[in-house]
Amino acid sequence: MSELYIQRADWKKEKHMPVIEAPDQVSAGIPFQVKVSIGKEIPHPNTTEHHIAWFDLYFHPEGEKFPLQVGHFTLTGHGESVKGPNQGPLYTHPELAVTLKVNKPGTFHALSFCNIHGLWESERAVSVLMTASAPDREAA
Ligand code: FE
Repeated sequence: MSELYIQRADWKKEKHMPVIEAPDQVSAGIPFQVKVSIGKEIPHPNTTEHHIAWFDLYFHPEGEKFPLQVGHFTLTGHGESVKGPNQGPLYTHPELAVTLKVNKPGTFHALSFCNIHGLWESERAVSVLMTASAPDREAA
């Protein structure tokens, strides 16, 4: 898909932008948490008709050609019910924290999809502190 269809904006002004929260620097091989949320400053609607349907988190290791997928998160509860739209008891909030470890620096990319307003992307770089106890990348 062309980048023409992937939108970017200031997350403080745009409710569709994914926000990636992660430490600026982590230690190689030590688990840390990355949180992705959509609508952090301005909440996005969460109704049967209009909602964030899914988001992806990728890690693009510095100097490598291809990004790696951390996870795909489908949000399937948006007030659906046999009584009708928005009558159900469940509303999945577009926010999730995942724990992972890396052994080289890189950039996280988050891609979110609104069922009406399409694709939105943001990114956040993370540097990796190499220590003596870090796993040997070449041996893996
Ligand atoms: Fe929307």
